Amino acid sequence: MKTLQDLKPLIEYLQEIQHLSSAISVLHWDQETYMPPGAGRARAEQLSTLGGMAHERSVGPEMERLLSQWVDLKSGQVNGEERGWDEPSRALLREVWRDYHKATKLPTEFVRRYGKEASISQQVWVEARKKSDFSQFAPHLKTMVALKKEEIGYIGYKDSPYDALLDDYEPGMTVAQLVPLFEALKAELVPLLEKIVQSPVQPKTDFLHRSYAPEKQLAFGQKVLEAMGFDFNNGRQDLSAHPFTTSFHTTDVRITTRVDERDLLSSLFSSIHEGGHALYDQGLNPDLYGTPLGDARSLGVHESQSRLWENGIGRSKPFWGYFYPILQKTFPEGLKGVDPESFYAAVNLVRPSLIRVEADELTYNLHIMVRFEIERALIEANLPVDALPSLWNEKMHQYLGIVPDSDAHGVLQDVHWSGGAIGYFPTYTLGNLYAVQFLNQAKKEIPGLEGEIAKGDLLPLKKWLNEKIHRWGKQYPTDVLVRRVTGEPLNPAYFVRYLKEKFTPLYSLS
Ligand code: ZN
Repeated sequence: MKTLQDLKPLIEYLQEIQHLSSAISVLHWDQETYMPPGAGRARAEQLSTLGGMAHERSVGPEMERLLSQWVDLKSGQVNGEERGWDEPSRALLREVWRDYHKATKLPTEFVRRYGKEASISQQVWVEARKKSDFSQFAPHLKTMVALKKEEIGYIGYKDSPYDALLDDYEPGMTVAQLVPLFEALKAELVPLLEKIVQSPVQPKTDFLHRSYAPEKQLAFGQKVLEAMGFDFNNGRQDLSAHPFTTSFHTTDVRITTRVDERDLLSSLFSSIHEGGHALYDQGLNPDLYGTPLGDARSLGVHESQSRLWENGIGRSKPFWGYFYPILQKTFPEGLKGVDPESFYAAVNLVRPSLIRVEADELTYNLHIMVRFEIERALIEANLPVDALPSLWNEKMHQYLGIVPDSDAHGVLQDVHWSGGAIGYFPTYTLGNLYAVQFLNQAKKEIPGLEGEIAKGDLLPLKKWLNEKIHRWGKQYPTDVLVRRVTGEPLNPAYFVRYLKEKFTPLYSLS
């Protein structure tokens, strides 16, 4: 039986490419945190050179030579007897070939043209959003949609052209699977939201916007991260305009947050969210660094880890049973007279709002439905770009009962489309669904989990996630991973049940 040992030359070559990619990530992280504003142009050139080197190596003759020793480059078939390889080796070859094959389908000329147009389009989008002027952005979005269609032409697809795009972010997922999943979800979420909005019981949240010293907020967030098992010896937290997680190695995982004196929850929940992402990256197998087996499974699975911690734990009763007294001691003035029940209700406020990134855990998914349906119409049905603002507002009204007052707060709010990231949004909702299904299983398998959380011990859950999900990297396709962890395929019923169980008592629903 052949093992990873036999693939050593390929693995070492992949790790060399990863060194370049990790250096690119360091420069990106620096750009978002500490880089002086004047360095923008020089940084862009540095990134472009390194990016070109990494890309060349990943599709160049040396990669071809190494990979073709074991894999038929046309079909992806492993040479010789498939059964002659152990499972990790087969998975590694499958994933490396997949990336290689996909990258070689795109002509170099196209990649260059795409990169240039995307960069211009993103810059125009920033301006257009500032001025809330969709007409300024529209010609560039048209170009990006045309480029995505050209890309689909190179990549190919079976059922829906949208599948070719989705595959970049959630390999294996298809429109045929997503549509019934999302329809089932929408059919439950829209009426549930209506009931919540109409409930006479509405939590007070004014106390969340009193004055809360930023350094104390950050110190509390750090305490929670330590409790989650975030390893500060192999990671750190810094400040940036938009919170994110990036990883250079399992021993160096960076998260960022932002802090607002008048918002007690924003920094804390961004720390917990990014902390969940970071635990995944710290929990990958360091020996397989640079290979698909040492890399996160998909965006949806990554998001499941952040959402599990942010919502499943960070907005749960047991969590606040332990942490609320500590928070109240940290902010005796701000939280004076706020009892634990009122605080728990405030943390779980559900209210239709215009901005996706500020949405609660229920309405968030309706924001995703709006985007998913519009993306599909653009790609599958040739919806004209000029129709987007009105279609957006129509769908917002239909699903969330509100209409944006401006395109800046509507169709122009997200960066994704401007850079050509079409097919990305569904991974957020998939993450929410995976998260609840995983957590449900963790509760079954870890005895007294909620009791442990109520004592402030979050480590049993972290260890379970390390063991069940993190350490496997991309060894299993996502659907196999979900079945291995939970014993069944992705099932949105868990998410719906979770929301009903949480919000029925909070809003006195019948
Ligand atoms: Zn995230």
